[in-house]
Amino acid sequence: MQRAGLSPAPTIAYIQCDTIQGIVMGETRHTKVLIIGSGPAGYTAAVYSARAMLQPILVQGLQPGGQLTITTEVENWPGEKHIQGPDLMVNMQAHAEAMGAEVISDYITSLDLQNRPFTATADSGTTYTADAVILATGAQAKWLGLPSEEKFKGFGVSACATCDGFFYRGKEIVVIGGGNTAVEEALFLTNFASKVTLIHRRDSLRAEKIMQDRLFKHPKIEMLWNSEVTEVLGTEAPLGVTAVRTRNLQTNEVKDVPCSGFFVAIGHAPASELVKDQLPLHSGGYVQVEPGSTRTAIAGVFAAGDLTDHVYRQAVTSAGMGCMAALDAERWLAGH
Ligand SMILES: Cc1cc2nc3c(=O)[nH]c(=O)nc-3n(C[C@H](O)[C@H](O)[C@H](O)COP(=O)(O)OP(=O)(O)OC[C@H]3O[C@@H](n4cnc5c(N)ncnc54)[C@H](O)[C@@H]3O)c2cc1C
Repeated sequence: MQRAGLSPAPTIAYIQCDTIQGIVMGETRHTKVLIIGSGPAGYTAAVYSARAMLQPILVQGLQPGGQLTITTEVENWPGEKHIQGPDLMVNMQAHAEAMGAEVISDYITSLDLQNRPFTATADSGTTYTADAVILATGAQAKWLGLPSEEKFKGFGVSACATCDGFFYRGKEIVVIGGGNTAVEEALFLTNFASKVTLIHRRDSLRAEKIMQDRLFKHPKIEMLWNSEVTEVLGTEAPLGVTAVRTRNLQTNEVKDVPCSGFFVAIGHAPASELVKDQLPLHSGGYVQVEPGSTRTAIAGVFAAGDLTDHVYRQAVTSAGMGCMAALDAERWLAGH
């Protein structure tokens, strides 16, 4: 549909403005659909709900664009053989705005889902009231917290084997972790790597027994037990990983394990803080939705993307759930 020249109509009714001695304390704005989060799920929900004439407001949070803004190459977004993560997210924001969504740089500090309209309080002092809410606050990979890990993120250090394994064809890879995710990632990475070393700080894994059996039988996988990674080693120009420095927690022996890719698989933390006392969560903190939909336990509240998903955790699956959330919200609003 040709939308050139169409400027988005003001989407929000200003219904209140509190002042104390002439200082604006914060306004209250009402919207039909409030989208919290600006990753692929949030922006896709914004595109769909804007095109359904719902005039959504999207609040971006502290990481505008979400997790893909901290990576470099993305090679699995359909239609883009090769795009930088931050560029993809700039495109998504522009797309959502072009369709008429209002994208706001702000952070939601509290959310009341017990009363209607739903009420979100933002860091700026603005209060948003909404008939429907789409939660798309995503998740964050847990990291070791090493300065060298930070330095090489996106340049050899990753938290996503599905996303980045392809870049290490024929190369040596190190994975750290001891749960199902670490074992899955290590096994998956054998499709690309010449060798995978799995480092764990204990002498046994937490992963399911059947996964462990597959892992221990795999000819490309070597275990390094009772060890931690103390530093990621690499080159400056070009920036790249060459090894990880490990310390044996029982003997203190220091050993450098050569690798081109270092995958941190010590878990993810879904950003469910806003709703943890209001909505049922899966173990691990992921928001529960009805299977096959984005409906949460509260009618009119929908959840999409990594916030609800401990299995796939991909940009395209998050975007797909963002689409579903917008369609679910639109149908729910139409029925009310
Ligand atoms: C390093 C790295 C590389 C990756 N590479 C790929 C890849 O190549 N391909 C791929 O498909 N996937 C990749 N992924 C996974 C992909 O990034 C995620 O699956 C996807 O971003 C999840 O999208 P999302 O919209 O659910 O949430 P996120 O991208 O996590 O975004 C969450 C959003 O919520 C906002 N938010 C959180 N709390 C609040 C709040 N209180 N108020 C307002 N906003 C809030 C944040 O600011 C953020 O904008 C990668 C992930 C990482 C970490």
